[in-house]
Amino acid sequence: MEVSVSILSSSIKASDIVKKLDNTKADYIHIDIMDGKFVENKSWTFGEIKKITSYSKLPLDVHLMVNNPEKYIEDYAMLNTHYLAFHYEAVKDINSMIEKVKEYGLKVGIAINPDTPVNVLFPYLKDIDEVLVMSVYPGKSGQSFISSSPNKIKELSEEINGQGLKTIISVDGGINDETGVLCKEAGVNRLVSASYLHKNLQENINILKKL
Ligand code: ZN
Repeated sequence: MEVSVSILSSSIKASDIVKKLDNTKADYIHIDIMDGKFVENKSWTFGEIKKITSYSKLPLDVHLMVNNPEKYIEDYAMLNTHYLAFHYEAVKDINSMIEKVKEYGLKVGIAINPDTPVNVLFPYLKDIDEVLVMSVYPGKSGQSFISSSPNKIKELSEEINGQGLKTIISVDGGINDETGVLCKEAGVNRLVSASYLHKNLQENINILKKL
């Protein structure tokens, strides 16, 4: 199982977590970018992200919870970003956004909110690298897992396999050892977690890795 450590949490200092990550089995650092428009909250500026992420060699998995995500691609392409995910709900011309992310040599992810059905993504699966399923309403850390999320993952996983694709499925929100198992059984490839991991970084990363 791939584990992406989300550093957004009100109870921790992000740079303190990032400094420890190279000594763990974490695969990615998950960066939530919020603009105060697509979601109510605002997260860090690009300058702050650049500084925070400079403390680790791990690749970044960037989640743009913003309107007009195309404006952010160039900046994040300069960092050690491997995956860049934008929200389906924030973009009118999905195909053109996919092309723009690819032009910068990044892997393309599309994130979907809990109320968006997964089948809207079926036409795009062949052109993208990742689907990021939101298992809480985006914008805040520490919410509880929406119990219908594994069903969405399963539907998506069956479609990806049916089309013979290698698109990965990530899940983001309320992930711990229990919800992680449910998502794994449904076919998820990557778990994004914040609050649970921050309780005991090394040990809880190991637990999710082994699911
Ligand atoms: Zn996220």
